[in-house]
Amino acid sequence: MQTYLNIDNVVKKFGQFTALEKISFSIKEGEFVCFLGPSGCGKTTLLRCIAGLEAVTSGLMVQAGTDITHLPPEKRDFGIVFQSYALFPNLTVQDNIALGLKNQGHSNYDCINLVNKWLAMVGLTDFANQYPNQLSGGQQQRVALARALALSPGLLLLDEPLSALDAKVRTYLREEICRLQKKLGITSVMVTHDQEEALAMADRIVVMNQGVIEQIGSPQEIYEQPATRFVANFVGTMNFISASIINKSFIRIGESLLKIPENTPIKGIKSGLVDLAIRPECLYFCSESENSISVKIQFIEFQGAYYQVECQLWDELSAPSIYVNVPVREARKLNLKSQQTRNLAIDTT
Ligand code: ADP
Ligand code: MG
Repeated sequence: MQTYLNIDNVVKKFGQFTALEKISFSIKEGEFVCFLGPSGCGKTTLLRCIAGLEAVTSGLMVQAGTDITHLPPEKRDFGIVFQSYALFPNLTVQDNIALGLKNQGHSNYDCINLVNKWLAMVGLTDFANQYPNQLSGGQQQRVALARALALSPGLLLLDEPLSALDAKVRTYLREEICRLQKKLGITSVMVTHDQEEALAMADRIVVMNQGVIEQIGSPQEIYEQPATRFVANFVGTMNFISASIINKSFIRIGESLLKIPENTPIKGIKSGLVDLAIRPECLYFCSESENSISVKIQFIEFQGAYYQVECQLWDELSAPSIYVNVPVREARKLNLKSQQTRNLAIDTT
């Protein structure tokens, strides 16, 4: 696939404050990319720079072969959707969608056809004559999406489009956006602080932190091979268990000596203290005889599909917690209780 958008060494300063520090990456045609990071890390600023709503301090941006770095927003080719919907309250749903089309110079006849097509596309045909305040949040956001897409932009920009919606609607609209995006093949960038959303929706995720990129990769790469401790922590739950490497076969965690499985990625570390990064779903309770560590159960929290069990290394009450996810069916058999001492093994498959 061809590169559609190229961001090269983009810096954005607000006075003395550097909001974006040498940002470089590219997006392929038809790709769905999420900017993911905590509040204030620069996601919106980067999106606004791409839209031309914010001028970059330095760097280069090329969209579909054109240098857009210094073009005003109206000369750029994008549609944008905001968290707050930003519909015109005094216009009906159809007029909200038609306004941009009229400005683009479409005839009345074309406008009506296009409005109807896009209303059908987002499932709001019956709401054409309603006003925004007569619609739910999810419906308003679908109007905003239709309005952005009706102008057939080359690039769709979405700034936290789902953040104002409640959980059920959010999941529904997330699927709808993905479905439309794939159907239209439109190159899209979505800003989100919600890691679940990014994992579920993106082809690739750009993880940001304090104005820099921590990692770029597919959802699986980001989750399974986090490049930095920040990424490991921010995306999903990660246990960091301090351990000391005894030799190439054994590791000590707390009081327990553990055989190191053959395929463990210990990159060039031969001895000394390390932090093991282990996902809660990669730990399981086992019998004492297995290759395992002894822990004391502190809290058991029901999560619906699984129990999240918080443990601590047996003799270290000040030790950081170790979280273990136990599927409900398995939990019944195990009969786990708070304050029990149990054995934990690492699933290395
Ligand atoms: P995010 O969208 O990731 O939450 P933003 O891009 O909105 O973060 O903001 C990144 C940083 O830049 C924040 O520290 C914010 O306060 C600062 N910032 C954003 N816009 C401006 C502005 N217009 N003037 C000064 N500082 C700004
Ligand atoms: Mg933002």
